[in-house]
Amino acid sequence: MKSLKKLFLLLIIVGLVSAGVFYFRDTKAPQLSLTPGSGPISKKTKLLLSLNDEGMGIKNVQVIVIQEGKQTPLLKRDFPPQTRVADLELDLSVLKLKEGGLQIEVITTDQSIYHLGKGNTTQQLFTLTYDTRAPIISILSKAHNFTKGGSGLVIFGLNEEVEISGVKFGDYFFPAYQQESGHYACLFAYPYDVKESAFVPRVIALDLAGNERQLGMYYRAKNKKFRQRKINISDRFLAQKIPEFESMVTDIDDPVDIFLYVNRTVRQQNRDQIAEFSSQTASTPLWNGAFLRQPKAASLARFADYRTYYYKGKEIDKQVHQGQDLASVAQAEIVAGNAGEVIWAEYLGIYGLCVIIDHGLGLQSLYAHMSQLDVQPGDVVARGQILGRSGATGMAGGDHLHLGIFVSGVSVQPIEWWDAHWLQDNIDIKLQIP
Ligand SMILES: [Zn+2]
Repeated sequence: MKSLKKLFLLLIIVGLVSAGVFYFRDTKAPQLSLTPGSGPISKKTKLLLSLNDEGMGIKNVQVIVIQEGKQTPLLKRDFPPQTRVADLELDLSVLKLKEGGLQIEVITTDQSIYHLGKGNTTQQLFTLTYDTRAPIISILSKAHNFTKGGSGLVIFGLNEEVEISGVKFGDYFFPAYQQESGHYACLFAYPYDVKESAFVPRVIALDLAGNERQLGMYYRAKNKKFRQRKINISDRFLAQKIPEFESMVTDIDDPVDIFLYVNRTVRQQNRDQIAEFSSQTASTPLWNGAFLRQPKAASLARFADYRTYYYKGKEIDKQVHQGQDLASVAQAEIVAGNAGEVIWAEYLGIYGLCVIIDHGLGLQSLYAHMSQLDVQPGDVVARGQILGRSGATGMAGGDHLHLGIFVSGVSVQPIEWWDAHWLQDNIDIKLQIP
């Protein structure tokens, strides 16, 4: 009798303990996150609600949108047992919302029997701003005159903070940079290979909520014809350059094929790399007055010469010369065209030993085929400061400087930047707009 009583008591204890274990098995509330969970949003913004419960799983969720004290249910969902993770997209476009402050309340409960069977609940409030108005762009600069292959500047104001702004046409986009005045400055190019009919620049601005505005501007575009040039590739040139080019190719033995690989593939890789450098730019202009041409140097090949390459009288390639060649004496001192920061100072494919200087607003100058470099990346250089000495490294037959000027990675005519009048009328005067 006594032992039966003991067994009964033991059973009760075991029962209580296991009930307790079951009751306290999941006391942790589910976790939730909303992306974006703050800041501006628009009708188009995709709001992602992520839920997760490591214990018994999520039971249900409820989403309420609150604006000016008015609560509107947006979503109610029950989940099957064992739902540990759930990602839901919230669609605000089904609600009639007003511009301005907005709160999203999320309440989610798990499958636990804790809290007398009610389970664990997480309740979180997110404060956002509903913005469906695109930014207002006011163009502040006048006289946007472009010559094919050349550069120009537009200054504009915006009524709100933006994610990105700049000038767009075709596949081209030139970013704008906010200045101390609060205005935005955007340097852009009329690329040498863009048809006059395709050069229709528009200012665009995308706000933080994702609303975009585009605005046309008054501009004048002057066409320009570029030269056609024949280049003969001699066996002597190949014999001289192949040892250097061999380091850039694999599995090619024929000297003409090696030349063609470097002239086409390496040239394109180098251009892509230069386009990537354009984001490493100061947001304010670093240049000071007109750019220096190299002292006492004569002009050789010009910007946007359309070159046809021949070998033993047969046409083998076509490329466009994207810079200006200058030469004086061999191993001449090469100077910085203007003040800026060195962002590249080493070998770069067809450009050989090469220096690239950032002058701000996406404007960069490139000095190629050098024999000696006296600067390194990060150096801040003054206008006229010696960068090194000229040479014939890379795709060069003789000692000369190849000077490239780039606007957000697009090569432009250097002569405009050497011209103090052009610079004053087209660039500097606009940067002074208060
Ligand atoms: Zn050149």
